[in-house]
Parts: sequence; structure tokens; C-alpha cells
Amino acid sequence: MNRPRWQRLVRSRIISSRHIPCAGVSPARAFSMSGRRGLMDTTGFSEDQLTVREAISQICANFPNTYWQERDQQEKDPKEFHAALAKDGWLGIALPESFGGAGLGISEATMMMQTITQSGAGIAGAQAIHANVYATQPLARFGTQEQLETTIPHIINGTWRTCFGVTEPNTGLDTLRLKTLATKTPDGYSVSGQKIWITCAQVASKMILLARTTPLGEVKKPTEGLSMFCIDIDRNHPGLDLRKIKKMGGRAVDANEVFFDNYQIPANTLIGQENQGFKIILHGMNAERCLLAGEALGLGYAALEKASQYARERVVFGRAIGQNQGVAHPLADAYMKLEAAKLATYHAARLYDTNDGSIPIHTVGVACNSAKYLAAEAAFTACERAVLAHGGMGYAMEYDVERYLRECLVPRIAPVSREMILNYVSEKMNFA
Ligand SMILES: Cc1cc2nc3c(=O)[nH]c(=O)nc-3n(C[C@H](O)[C@H](O)[C@H](O)COP(=O)(O)OP(=O)(O)OC[C@H]3O[C@@H](n4cnc5c(N)ncnc54)[C@H](O)[C@@H]3O)c2cc1C
Repeated sequence: MNRPRWQRLVRSRIISSRHIPCAGVSPARAFSMSGRRGLMDTTGFSEDQLTVREAISQICANFPNTYWQERDQQEKDPKEFHAALAKDGWLGIALPESFGGAGLGISEATMMMQTITQSGAGIAGAQAIHANVYATQPLARFGTQEQLETTIPHIINGTWRTCFGVTEPNTGLDTLRLKTLATKTPDGYSVSGQKIWITCAQVASKMILLARTTPLGEVKKPTEGLSMFCIDIDRNHPGLDLRKIKKMGGRAVDANEVFFDNYQIPANTLIGQENQGFKIILHGMNAERCLLAGEALGLGYAALEKASQYARERVVFGRAIGQNQGVAHPLADAYMKLEAAKLATYHAARLYDTNDGSIPIHTVGVACNSAKYLAAEAAFTACERAVLAHGGMGYAMEYDVERYLRECLVPRIAPVSREMILNYVSEKMNFA
């Protein structure tokens, strides 16, 4: 396979630096906004991460803010952006090399997602591709050889897009009580039930679906009886109905209610063993937290970049508004919050990638959830303050910060809310 130059570069570096935290650090590489050096210059991204950032930045440079403004206003799928990343193999960043992926870790995938949102693409840009990166992780780990061979290469080359079907309207964050039922038939399963908020279902060919194969009343524990599937989205099937949800932000990507009514799926769509779906989905959850944290960070930095430019250029009362501490200090505070959240994020991703089983899973879980929480909160602070620093123009579409503010609520809500993270950390750290 003729691999893109950046992928070859990353691959050759993995051989020497894989699983060696901080190997190949190049402190001279600029990190910060507008070429100013930031704290992370001195705290050690790996050469692989820096390579990913540079390559993704180059692709994102072809998609300026006006592209994302238009896509948001017209609610039009950014398919050119998805195609550009697919063309260079980036959708397979964390998928196995044997199926055409780059075989990199979540540390590098997090860097990719941060770079995308930071470029101005925002959460919409990230959402256009991220299910292809994280929802495919359980498939890569637990899928059969046949499933991997027939699916993964199509996802990586962009011919098939994927969405993730977990959330249900009547059970929400209480995922273990979800009601969508996949009942065994002679050929496979018949699925009935409802999902909500399924991103990109309108443009996806595949859905990674979590459904019950044993009703809740018939299992000893709610963690039992769930199964994971990789199914086709057949829009012509009478048993499938997709309805778009009108939403506040990230309007370039669709979000949907999905109705299944005796929707037939073949037996070979089951991922791993029947009734083991909870164990399987857990595998992808910590990775997803890290990616979302990266997305939140990028959005926060993008907002601060805009605010810093405006604060230096906007003159009232005879001086640039940034010369007033009332304007500069909230931005400085927001920057420090982002930097702290970034340390937590890449620490969590590194724990995830390097855990050979010696680190308890809940230690990794607390780190990944903490990272997502801290990054989402820091992004919200940065985006809100960026709007306020722009005064009235913060409310105008052309300055982008209003788009960022609308989008920065997503990492606070999904895939798990702030409150549920606080519940989880309280429990695991014995505060509750
Ligand atoms: C833009 C967007 C895209 C999304 N994309 C997808 C997708 O692609 N696939 C998918 O499956 N899902 C997706 N989701 C769904 C998302 O993961 C859920 O919205 C999220 O998990 C919250 O679930 P819920 O909306 O049902 O909230 P609910 O469960 O109804 O909770 C409502 C509120 O109550 C709080 N709450 C509930 N129980 C407790 C408790 N015990 N203690 C404290 N507080 C509590 C919650 O924290 C929350 O603030 C998306 C959501 C959004 C907004």
C-alpha cells in the first residue's frame, strides 16, 4: 500500500519510541498559539504526537473558518473534510496496521482531535470523524478476522462512515437499563427500540450498536445481557427510521433519533460474545474520554487565540482593550486552566496507552474521566471569556467565538455528564 508521507514518518518513529513515554521529544518545536511558546513545550510531547499535529494542521489549513461557518449555517455535512483525512489514512490512526491503520495509540489520536478543533473546525470537525476513531476500537479488539477484513479498510479509506448507537431517550445516562432489544432469529437478530442523539447517522453506512440480547428482568446484574453489533444502516429497510434533531451547535454534523422496528441484522454483525457487550464497550470508554478531552482543549485554545488577537487589535478609550487587566486577566486565567487540563489529558492518554495490566483499570478510569471533566470545564471558561472579550462582536458569526461557545457545551454533556463523572470519581476515590 502506498502510504502517505506523514504516516510513513510516524510509523518509522514508532519503531524506536513506542511505549517509551516522552521519547524523541523535540523541545524546539513550537507549541503555542501564534508561535509564542507555551508551557507544554517544556513538558514533553513525543515526536509521534508532534508529527501528528503538524500533519493534521496542514490538512486543516485547507478548511478555513469560513468553511466551518458556512457548514454550520447551512447544516451541511463537511464531507470534504472527512474525505481529506481519509485520503491520508488518518481515520485509521489508532486501528491495527494489519488492516491499513497506523497502529498508533490514544495519545496520538487525542493530539489529532485537539489539532482539528484548534484549527477552527471546532467540535463539528471532530464529530465528523471521531466515531470512526473511537467507536471502532471495540471492533478492532473483539471483532472476528472476517469482520475486521470486511469493515476496517472501508472505514479507514472513507468509503464507509460509522456512527455510535448507545444513548436512548427513556434511559439516558443509565446505560445499563437501555431497552433496545435484539431478539434471535434463524439468520441473526431482529432489533426493536429507539436511540437518540446518534451523530452522523444520516451519512454513516455502519453503526456500532449496543442493545440488549437478554431482557433486564432475566439477568442477575444489569451489566449482563448487553451485546454489541456492527450493523449496516439500510435506509430502505422499513424497520429503520432516522429523524434529524435540530440543535444549538455543531450543526454541520447531523444528530438523530433512530427508530428500529423488527430491523433484521445478520448473525455475523455481533462483536465478540453475545451478552458480553458491557465488557466490550468499557474498552472504548476511557479512550473516548481522552479524545473528547483533546477536542475540548483544542476548542478552548482556538477561542483564546481569537480573544488574544482581538484584545491586541481593538482600541477603545485610546488603548488596546488587552491593556486593561479586566480583559487580560480572565484570559490569562483561562489559559492556565487549559494548560492544567492538558497535563491531565495527556497523562491520562499515556496511562491508557502504556497500561500493560499493572495499573488498576479504575486508576486509568479516574484519570481519563478527570481529564474529560477538567478539559470540558476549561474549554467552557475559555469560550465564554473569548466571547465577552469581543464585546458585541463576540455575538457576531464572523468572529467565530459564538460558534465555539455553542459547541463547547457538548464535551460538558457527552458522552458522560459532569455530574456522572463527579459521581464516579467520588465512588472510586472513596468520597461517597
Ligand atoms: C451533540 C450531541 C451528540 C451526541 N452524540 C451521541 C452519539 O453519537 N451516540 C450516542 O449514543 N449518544 C450521543 N449523545 C448523547 C449523550 O451521550 C447524552 O446526551 C449524554 O450521555 C447525557 O444523557 P442524557 O441526555 O439522556 O441525560 P440524562 O440521563 O437525562 O441526564 C440529565 C441530567 O441529569 C443529570 N443526572 C442524571 N442522573 C444523575 C445522577 N444519578 N446524579 C447526578 N446527576 C444526574 C445528568 O448529569 C444530566 O445533567 C450526544 C449528545 C449530544 C448533545
